[in-house]
Amino acid sequence: MSDSHSIAIRQSVQTSVERPGDGLDRSLWARTAPAAPALPVLRGSHRAEVVVVGAGYTGLATALALIEHGVQVAIVDAREPGFGASGRNGGQVIPVFKHEPQAIMARFGEEAGRDMIDMVMRSADDVFALIDKYGIACDAERTGWIQGARNAASGQVLHRRCLAWRKVGADARPLDADEIAQLSGTTHFRSGWLLGNAGSVNPLKYARGLASAAVGRGASLFVGSPVVRLESVDGAWRVATPEGELHARRVVLATNGYSTRLWPGLRESIVPLYSMQIATDPLPAALGASILPRRQTMTDDRHLVHYFRRDAAGRFVIGARGPFRPDPSAHDARRLIAMARRLYPQLDEVAFPFRWAGRVAMTPDFMPHLHRLAPGLTTALGFNGRGVAMTAAMGRVLAQACLDDGDRRLPYPVSALRPIPLHRLHRAGVQMMMSYYRLRDRLA
Ligand SMILES: Cc1cc2nc3c(=O)[nH]c(=O)nc-3n(C[C@H](O)[C@H](O)[C@H](O)COP(=O)(O)OP(=O)(O)OC[C@H]3O[C@@H](n4cnc5c(N)ncnc54)[C@H](O)[C@@H]3O)c2cc1C
Repeated sequence: MSDSHSIAIRQSVQTSVERPGDGLDRSLWARTAPAAPALPVLRGSHRAEVVVVGAGYTGLATALALIEHGVQVAIVDAREPGFGASGRNGGQVIPVFKHEPQAIMARFGEEAGRDMIDMVMRSADDVFALIDKYGIACDAERTGWIQGARNAASGQVLHRRCLAWRKVGADARPLDADEIAQLSGTTHFRSGWLLGNAGSVNPLKYARGLASAAVGRGASLFVGSPVVRLESVDGAWRVATPEGELHARRVVLATNGYSTRLWPGLRESIVPLYSMQIATDPLPAALGASILPRRQTMTDDRHLVHYFRRDAAGRFVIGARGPFRPDPSAHDARRLIAMARRLYPQLDEVAFPFRWAGRVAMTPDFMPHLHRLAPGLTTALGFNGRGVAMTAAMGRVLAQACLDDGDRRLPYPVSALRPIPLHRLHRAGVQMMMSYYRLRDRLA
């Protein structure tokens, strides 16, 4: 695409949000985070060196990395910082990919693979460094993450995974039946592994803290301003919202699972799945202490994973794949409540007053993708449910991509944007896959 060629994308943009009543307000995190900072809507015409579209972790980490290099940044979000997955997630900071390191190196080559592995293994350090540096009060804890196996076959898979990550330097060790029972507080698992440098945050507090840090260091952050058109004119980008526009030579799209039709094929390069969570009120001390007593976070070994933890106030929070909507019903929550009680029968009489959901951006290869979409236009998306840690590292890479303009090799491979064939049928496809995986999980 030539820079001088205007590529206005004139179709009306589907709002990135699911309209009022979108579910964020019903989440535990909206209840426990301080109010969102008061920020303006984009009105009139403004200039910046870099415009970041999307104020989730990816956009905010990118903005902060650019600000550290003295770059003047404007961030624009359709709704507010943390409105997307960043304000709704499980808060588990997990610094490993879903694939094993050897598979990454086999696919991307020794050198690029090693860079990616180092990047992901350092990503939890990146999160906690941002929290420390900007003094973000977000209930950050670095207590580790456990993945549990329910049977011997899956135990062997997780054992191999643990050793593979340990071999490349991860702080990982296997857990036998006794130890996993002690650490998890349930006898549901036969074995597993512990990733010691993982941790947790209150996700919305973290997102809002990053936003305040960016604004405090000079970024302009506009809320309630969906970008509806992106055009390149004479080497600069015009980023238009319903009431204003921003001009910049560089633009970063950080819209992930909430991507609209803003850039052809972007939304179609991921499958946005809904994940839902439920939470109790703070548990009485003795009951709370019987669940994950050392406060690790935890995931099981299912294809349709369950992830769970206790929050800073001692609430039990559990999540899993949900139906395709942002506001799960009481009926939707039943299966998850049953699972919570199967894991921890002591929760039998305990109510789950919170339920909410958000979009997880999945990619066909279960890896995040970094794309240079056009000169001066970069994006990273598809964190596959592991973005809390990875986005802090990817933000630095996106910042570097803006600063270098493609001159230097990045620590994460740039790939071509590949829309998923028959994307419009993804819901039906996902429903079928979920039924299939649910069956396999039951059989296991
Ligand atoms: C329920 C749930 C549980 C999860 N649990 C975990 C977990 O425990 N651990 C983990 O590592 N990961 C987890 N994830 C994934 C993690 O939350 C994401 O990977 C991460 O938050 C992605 O951040 P992001 O900034 O890329 O995207 P988002 O946070 O989704 O941000 C995208 C932003 O773009 C904005 N936007 C979109 N289109 C436009 C537009 N046209 N104009 C302006 N703004 C726009 C949206 O409003 C939104 O704020 C979970 C996700 C969900 C939904």
